[in-house]
Amino acid sequence: MHPVRSLLLAASENRWMRANATTLPVFRKAVKRFMPGERLDDALEAADTLRRQDRIATIFTRLGENVTEMAEADAVTEHYLEAYGRIAQAGLDTQISVKLTQLGLDIDPARCRDHVRRLAARAAEQGAILYIDMEQHPYVDATLALYHAVLAEYPNVGVCLQAYLYRTAKDLEAIIGAGGAVRLVKGAYKEPASVAFPKKVDVDANYLSLAKAMIGEPARTRGFRAVFGTHDVSIIDAIQQHAKATGVPNDACEFALLYGIQRSVQQQLGRDGYGLRVLISYGEYWFPWYMRRLAERPANVWFVARTMFAR
Ligand SMILES: Cc1cc2nc3c(=O)[nH]c(=O)nc-3n(C[C@H](O)[C@H](O)[C@H](O)COP(=O)(O)OP(=O)(O)OC[C@H]3O[C@@H](n4cnc5c(N)ncnc54)[C@H](O)[C@@H]3O)c2cc1C
Repeated sequence: MHPVRSLLLAASENRWMRANATTLPVFRKAVKRFMPGERLDDALEAADTLRRQDRIATIFTRLGENVTEMAEADAVTEHYLEAYGRIAQAGLDTQISVKLTQLGLDIDPARCRDHVRRLAARAAEQGAILYIDMEQHPYVDATLALYHAVLAEYPNVGVCLQAYLYRTAKDLEAIIGAGGAVRLVKGAYKEPASVAFPKKVDVDANYLSLAKAMIGEPARTRGFRAVFGTHDVSIIDAIQQHAKATGVPNDACEFALLYGIQRSVQQQLGRDGYGLRVLISYGEYWFPWYMRRLAERPANVWFVARTMFAR
């Protein structure tokens, strides 16, 4: 792993930094590139702008992970229920994506599952899909067990799978069999070589092979839903070529990108008739998430440095 990437991912897990770094002006200024603001209102405003300017649909996520009190997890659930109301009121096509450790997975998995059920039921009323993020590898079993349990009751739930994990092909097969929905990403955490491909070239190859399975005939006949969460233009291009060559219609491939990254690619995907969503993050607890964004592209560190010296 690139040493800068490794350092940034270590910082993302540092407790003192997690608690204190968001007050530092340099980070507050630089994070704006990836996050329209800390409040739900900021996310709603950004989603409205994307819809009006480029007819782009969105996904919201309120930043936070590993809560230590169940009351916090309960409050996050209430927040998201309120967010569904605000989204409907604003007439936005916006989904929500949740982190299970923010909904209490570490404290009380049964209550966490109830929270997901309530959110899935609310999403269904709005004709929306609720997505579950994937966190570090020790959470994968618990996340997928919860996902399959909720999917059996609510067909409108999807889960994220990470192409850097060796196990993902098997996990994907099970979800395709259940007719679920998957957002495929490369994976954002620092993982050991015992569970994840250490080389980017292997992660990229695995991504493409999983992506092909996701839009293959067996997946489509099962009603499986494929979403590709990536900014990698060569992978996006390869998926599109494969889809064309195998007769998969453009609207069967949905792409999801992060707010502020590869904006021209976002606009082009929309113009070409592919399903497209931009994920907007908001909330006060943004430090670990922001460090993972910097780690994805160590050149971003220069952006922070420039911000530090700009007036
Ligand atoms: C919608 C969505 C949801 C996600 N959900 C999860 C999740 O639940 N769990 C999880 O582990 N990960 C998640 N991720 C993050 C993902 O795992 C990757 O870390 C991230 O998307 C970077 O990988 P990439 O596929 O864009 O490819 P990369 O090979 O990392 O990047 C390809 C190119 O995209 C551009 N790029 C990528 N990232 C950045 C950046 N931060 N800043 C500027 N340019 C950049 C660069 O030009 C880079 O060369 C999500 C990503 C997206 C888009």
